[in-house]
Amino acid sequence: MSRPVLIVGGGPAGLAAASALTAVGQRVVLVEKAERLGGAPILSGYAKLVPSGEWAKDAIGGMVRRVEAQPLATVRLRTTVASLKGGPGDFNAEFSDGAAVQVGAVILCTGFTHFDSLNKPEWGFGTYPDVVTTAQVEQMISAGTGVRCPSDGRAPQRVAILLCVGSRDRQIGRPWCSKICCTVSANIAMEIREQLPDCHVYIYYMDIRTFGLYETKYYWRSQEEFKIKYIKARIAEVTSDGQRLIVKGEDTLVKRPITIPFDMVVHAIGMDPNVDNKSIATAFGVALEPNGYLERGNSYGNTAETSRPGVFVAGAAAGPETIDDSIAQAYAAAARALPLVHPAQASA
Ligand SMILES: Cc1cc2nc3c(=O)[nH]c(=O)nc-3n(C[C@H](O)[C@H](O)[C@H](O)COP(=O)(O)OP(=O)(O)OC[C@H]3O[C@@H](n4cnc5c(N)ncnc54)[C@H](O)[C@@H]3O)c2cc1C
Ligand code: SF4
Repeated sequence: MSRPVLIVGGGPAGLAAASALTAVGQRVVLVEKAERLGGAPILSGYAKLVPSGEWAKDAIGGMVRRVEAQPLATVRLRTTVASLKGGPGDFNAEFSDGAAVQVGAVILCTGFTHFDSLNKPEWGFGTYPDVVTTAQVEQMISAGTGVRCPSDGRAPQRVAILLCVGSRDRQIGRPWCSKICCTVSANIAMEIREQLPDCHVYIYYMDIRTFGLYETKYYWRSQEEFKIKYIKARIAEVTSDGQRLIVKGEDTLVKRPITIPFDMVVHAIGMDPNVDNKSIATAFGVALEPNGYLERGNSYGNTAETSRPGVFVAGAAAGPETIDDSIAQAYAAAARALPLVHPAQASA
């Protein structure tokens, strides 16, 4: 019998890799450090996903249920990998609880860490309770409580969403674009207007990156149908006058200072490298790229490869990524891993 493939991380990428491999009769061992599978969309309680509009608990929850029901998948929760010895076709992985497994290939799907807005103190998070993150608003929507000001539970009449919080900010060592937060923010803005039709929603941006087909569905629709107002600005600070939050900055189109009051300010937080990446790099013997994500090999010749032969990577572990692309990369990684556990298929 062929050796299993070790998949590390049970988010959208890890679940997709497990489904792809088990669908062709390949055994997998899926190791997840959290108490449940699902990755960021489930662990952080996302609401309706872009671009499908499906609830995360249904879409990603469905992926979880399919893997959990799959007899060829062994799932180990609350587990990490301490070390990986050997080479392609013949690895020995030791787990955090001391157990070990022989595997033929490894796919790293260890994902990202949400930017901690406390690292941007001048924008009010941690100082004012009504300054929240997109992840918190997603939780309010998915929990069914509706969007409310945490300070007193009132429905906000004016909401500002600040884009690029913890992304495209070289001052705090985060030069990357997190790819999905413009689209997620437009989606959240429309959801707020649907729930609270009298609420005014403003999006403060440097540039809008609702890439590809998202331009019509999110950028234009949010303005034309939902009357979301976009302000191109540099934010200086978020303060309070005792009654309302005050967003101060410069409107960079007319080059004038602007000071606008709000009930709630939302940080569109970015995707940091997984805080575990240094220990993951050590345990698996793989390289990190300069920002701290797992380094990918050459995209064309060595799709899904890391710096170590037989160890592949997919999803947000290797840089900010959408769910769709994380899943597609996981399928590619599965296709690369398969010949290492079924050498006959490699020459077929
Ligand atoms: C606020 C917000 C909203 C978003 N909404 C959308 C959206 O609507 N649509 C969309 O396409 N994208 C969205 N994204 C992006 C989306 O979260 C990612 O594309 C997706 O989660 C990437 O999946 P992944 O499996 O690569 O990583 P993750 O979802 O991060 O999953 C990684 C998994 O690995 C586990 N893990 C980590 N380290 C270890 C370790 N050392 N050992 C074992 N397990 C480990 C983690 O616990 C986690 O379960 C959003 C992002 C943010 C910040
Ligand atoms: S996707 Fe938009 S909000 Fe996110 S980092 Fe890129 S430009 Fe900023």
